[in-house]
Amino acid sequence: MVKFPAFPFPLNSPDDDKPQEECGVFGIFSDPDAAAHTALGLHALQHRGQEAAGVVSCDGENFHTHKGLGHVHRVFRPEAGIPGLPGTMAIGHVRYSTSGDTALRNVQPLYADLACGGIALAHNGNLTNALTLRHQLVQQGCIFQSTSDTEVIIQLMARSRKASVEDRLIDALSQVEGAFSLVVMTADTLIGVRDPHGFRPLVLGSHGDATLFASETCALDIISAEYVRDIEPGEMVVINRAGLRSMRPFPTVGRRFCIFEYIYFARPDSVCEGLSVYDMRKKIGMELAREAPVTADVVVPVPDSGIPAALGYAQESGIPFELGIIRNHYVGRTFIQPTQKTRDIGVRRKHNANRLYLEGKRVVLVDDSIVRGTTSTKIVDMVRQAGAAEVHLRISSPPTAHPCYFGIDTPEREKLLASRFDVPGMARILGVDSLAFISVDGLYRAAGQPGRNEQNPGFCDACFTGDYVSKLTDLATPDTLRVVSRLNEHRRSI
Ligand code: AMP
Repeated sequence: MVKFPAFPFPLNSPDDDKPQEECGVFGIFSDPDAAAHTALGLHALQHRGQEAAGVVSCDGENFHTHKGLGHVHRVFRPEAGIPGLPGTMAIGHVRYSTSGDTALRNVQPLYADLACGGIALAHNGNLTNALTLRHQLVQQGCIFQSTSDTEVIIQLMARSRKASVEDRLIDALSQVEGAFSLVVMTADTLIGVRDPHGFRPLVLGSHGDATLFASETCALDIISAEYVRDIEPGEMVVINRAGLRSMRPFPTVGRRFCIFEYIYFARPDSVCEGLSVYDMRKKIGMELAREAPVTADVVVPVPDSGIPAALGYAQESGIPFELGIIRNHYVGRTFIQPTQKTRDIGVRRKHNANRLYLEGKRVVLVDDSIVRGTTSTKIVDMVRQAGAAEVHLRISSPPTAHPCYFGIDTPEREKLLASRFDVPGMARILGVDSLAFISVDGLYRAAGQPGRNEQNPGFCDACFTGDYVSKLTDLATPDTLRVVSRLNEHRRSI
């Protein structure tokens, strides 16, 4: 889900329309503990969104909502939340926002009364023509209640001439571009649907009589549900009393699951599209050791996201693995702080050097990615101050040179270190003795392929290659952005 930009915002760069949110979704049908299990599922998906959480349940007649800002355990307490969410069906959402206002009106699931009945909807992804559609809808008289792109789907459903919820949903989704993994709930039906490229994950599970959808398998594990299969790209699965139906309502296009889910975003104990995230990270580390070997005394991960790749690097190279940096787990992720200043402090609050294992050592430092370069600069400095003799930085992703428009938070292009400097330039800025990134082909080898198949890569790797497979309509229409953002500002001031 993406939030519409606030006004005024610089209109000179198309990259300003950057995604600002990533999310996790969950939905369960025919479960006497629907709301509690949904909240637990969201807790397992907390890494996908820490800014807000919400659950909508349905008792067959009425919908019940509980939403709030902050972590799942803050929003849902024994005395607040679950007791007010009766029913055997529920959907939930965790939201990850990095800047701008965190208005409760944007917190999902969103609910609406349509001509065909009530619906609740939770969205992971980012629609790349949402601003354009929103502008058209506002011109036609639609009144938006949130600044979220997800509401565009609801407005399109509300205006659809189709009779059933399913057909209205298909109608709406046929008009949107970009990434969506959605769970939708009506009074008697639960629907899970993935965009035709399958950018973001969505899995199907079962738990006794209950059937469920979740962004990742770790959300099934927490309630001891069984993994059934991934929802296929472009597939819509409808669950109601009659059973489960699978439909393919959209034209077939190439599968493009986000490869960055494996590198950083998904939880290592999840299995996405048949590949273990942990295993993939380790294999990337092994590839990296083969591609960029170095003579060193110790392999040190930047915790936590660098750990599996560092283990792989250490195993392949034979260099001992040590936790030379210790992470304080009681701070949020680096990107959560919205300003550069607080982001800098965030890095120091989060990591500390384990001196004994760094002093006088030639260190191979392994992290998953360099985005702005903030984390790496601070960590390298910390390792040097702890007395490391040499610092060799190894990154388990290719250089992030392009923004993501399909649901991963990235800053605009000018702020990406790799868009401004080549590898030697970055090495100088970061102050390392050597710097190497996994190659794009190496990344695909870790995924079990011979290399990147240029015609049919099978993954979305646009942040590394600039190969954007879905249309980016909003970027081509800055006037639309201008009009919509003014409308947003006006609504905020009333
Ligand atoms: P930076 O400090 O801007 O270079 O960001 C790189 C660090 O942020 C890495 O250590 C990653 O673990 C983490 N990271 C990378 N991508 C993201 C993202 N989309 N959201 C939050 N954190 C990220």
